[in-house]
Amino acid sequence: MPARIAINGYGTIGKRVADAVSLQDDMKLVGVAKTKPNFEAKIAARKGYRLYASDKEALGKFQKAGVKANGTLEDLIKEADLVVDCTPEESGYKPLYEKAGVKAIWQGGEEHSLTNLSFNAAANYADCLGAQFVRVPSCNTTGLIRTLYPLDAHIGIDKVLAVMVRRAADPGDSKKGPINAIEPELEIPSHHGPDVRSVLPKLNIHTVAVKVSSTLMHLHAVSVDLRREVGPAEVLETWRRFPRVAFVKGGEGVKSTAEIMEFARDLSRNRSDLYEIAVWQDGVHVVDGRHLYYFQAVHQESDVVPENVDAIRAITGLEKDARKSMEKTDRSLGIGVAN
Ligand code: NAD
Repeated sequence: MPARIAINGYGTIGKRVADAVSLQDDMKLVGVAKTKPNFEAKIAARKGYRLYASDKEALGKFQKAGVKANGTLEDLIKEADLVVDCTPEESGYKPLYEKAGVKAIWQGGEEHSLTNLSFNAAANYADCLGAQFVRVPSCNTTGLIRTLYPLDAHIGIDKVLAVMVRRAADPGDSKKGPINAIEPELEIPSHHGPDVRSVLPKLNIHTVAVKVSSTLMHLHAVSVDLRREVGPAEVLETWRRFPRVAFVKGGEGVKSTAEIMEFARDLSRNRSDLYEIAVWQDGVHVVDGRHLYYFQAVHQESDVVPENVDAIRAITGLEKDARKSMEKTDRSLGIGVAN
């Protein structure tokens, strides 16, 4: 029996998770809940997704706009084993899910304390098996874990400093900014370092963040003190074992996030998404054997999508083995063909 999955919140992340879930043969998308009967709702309906209004007030708006809704979120939850909550942070649906006895996955806008369990498929799948609630950390945190976990597991990390250059808004968002400024996050460490520790509790990591007027991707400049001497070849070999890290080369014309997104478009994937973390191969440097420096770029709209699919398998118990779940997810999304 496929696991019955509902999506609450159909924005940047929700629509991608809905598409990814509908590609899985062990899951069934039972419906998506939306606040507004806007163009996104109409396209979702055209794709064959069953629409639900987030509450009674929203249902009235759907009726007025002539967009068919099959009921409210409460009705949808009754048909589901699990809800992927892709609403903005602190939307407050936990009591509703608890009352309905349904499992749920939240996104990185929420605090770790909402679930006390944050998920990354490579790092802690086994710890999340059978849980009622988990959270998939943010795009930046997921990006850091993707490259740091393999280094820590295979080589050993003493200390990390990551400088995060963050995009201001998603491409489809005309409200957020800055549009012509650079904005430092004055808290040190930025919230990303502690957030990485919600999955890798022992990692000694500090993060500094600035926001820039770009919508394409985040970029991280990462400095890692390793526990033993390595060369760049061993670092690259370590990452190559993890298909959710993709390599790009400045020497082949990938000078910036613009070319990485062009590379992603050329892969002809759904929405031109790059689920992998892109590491500049010729930007990986080891100084004095133990000091590693590298640059990576994160497609904020999509890197958490495969993690959500694996989180569904872990908490519903559909698959006990992290590797098998990741391979299944990656095959369905075309991950692994980028290298
Ligand atoms: P979004 O604004 O694109 O989408 C949110 C959706 O939820 C919209 O469809 C909105 O209409 C709907 N919504 C708003 N209030 C609601 C409510 N009270 N009840 C139900 N639905 C409501 O947001 P997003 O970027 O998809 O972010 C969702 C979550 O994913 C957040 O926790 C965010 O931090 C996290 N996240 C975002 C990104 C990103 O780059 N966009 C990356 C990783 C994680």
